[in-house]
Amino acid sequence: ESYLSRLSLTEPHLHSFLHISDSLLRDAQLIDRKIERGEDVGLLAGVLVGVKDNICTADMPSTGGSRILENYKAPFDATAVRRVKEKDGILIGKTNLDEFGMGSTTEASSFQVTANPWDLSRVPGGSSGGSAAAVSARQCMVSLGSDTGGSVRQPASFCGVVGLKPTYGRVSRFGLMAYASSLDVIGCLGTSVADTGILLHVISGHDRFDATSSNREVPDFSSQFASINLVESKPLKGLKVGLIHETLEDGVDNGVKSAISGAATHLEELGCTVTEVSLPSFSLGLPAYYILASSESSSNLSRYDGARYGNQVFAEELNALYSDSRAKGFGPEVQMRILMGTYALSAGYYDAYYKRAQKVRTLIRKSFKDALDDNDILISPVAPSAAYKIGEKKNDPLAMYAGDIMTVSISLLLYA
Ligand code: GLN
Repeated sequence: ESYLSRLSLTEPHLHSFLHISDSLLRDAQLIDRKIERGEDVGLLAGVLVGVKDNICTADMPSTGGSRILENYKAPFDATAVRRVKEKDGILIGKTNLDEFGMGSTTEASSFQVTANPWDLSRVPGGSSGGSAAAVSARQCMVSLGSDTGGSVRQPASFCGVVGLKPTYGRVSRFGLMAYASSLDVIGCLGTSVADTGILLHVISGHDRFDATSSNREVPDFSSQFASINLVESKPLKGLKVGLIHETLEDGVDNGVKSAISGAATHLEELGCTVTEVSLPSFSLGLPAYYILASSESSSNLSRYDGARYGNQVFAEELNALYSDSRAKGFGPEVQMRILMGTYALSAGYYDAYYKRAQKVRTLIRKSFKDALDDNDILISPVAPSAAYKIGEKKNDPLAMYAGDIMTVSISLLLYA
């Protein structure tokens, strides 16, 4: 009840949610009853979880932030959602996002723009901006987001919460609407590392419905974080930390630079050694990512044709049905990505763009591997700046894409 009243207070200003569960109190009472009866309850008993709207839920709509799926209700829960429910977590609602995860501010949502709870005139980041704003404003306790090239990490940074992008394959993608399948992961947002660890623990693990989900054993992320007093126990003693030199060059705000050097000093106090490392191919990550992500998305989004998937626009003949449904259903950013991706994949340009980007992907993987041979951990800022004003970069897609420079490279690594 207290969360519902918090929602009615905050949601008119924030617009974090596209849908709020109408069974919230009932779901909570069911858990209460379990506890009263002395039954065992799961790790998330009583925990209110927000779910990004590109993750399918059987009891609430799942639109992916797109008109083409307006009012769509999935017939099943995504595996991550099923696992949250099995551990007695309570779904509070579906959070706003850039259409199909394509964007960095939530301004590319087809339905509404989410505001940053710390300053309503600023963006919350994206594409999981609703999930980050909701946790930041305490509209829910933790949330699920998705991260293809930074969509959990960057909004978490902009909203001052913890965002965790798991390794590709750690969490099943079953029920996550595909944007770029070789990069997409479901991730966790929370107000503390411990909370995100608990949520990660619940949703991790192999799933027979996702062939790319990892078979590796799931470590106990839930206890690893919660019990450690870093200052006293110095568990990081001897750990070698590499600060990526290329992430601190021109174009990065001074405030960001000083936050990172503050973090580096803190890590040294905890017993780490911190040195700068160079990743010469780092800046190639951005163009490679945008070519690969757009290419994969152009293929993934071909399913929304108004006949097989997606809302249908009536037309006299089949090709018009496809093109009218797609023209009406997809927003401008998504249409641009499809055009870019189709171009990069087309016969005449495949070698120059898609194939070349794949080679760059291999190069980047190698340079990270080299850096990790000498270091246990690499650190960098999440973004070149803090949250900027709503509208500031909306009409300058290249400036918006450039803001993803810190997060996209690591997404290209693909290790499970
Ligand atoms: N901003 C990046 C993009 O638009 C990353 C988005 C994401 O991780 N889903 O592709």
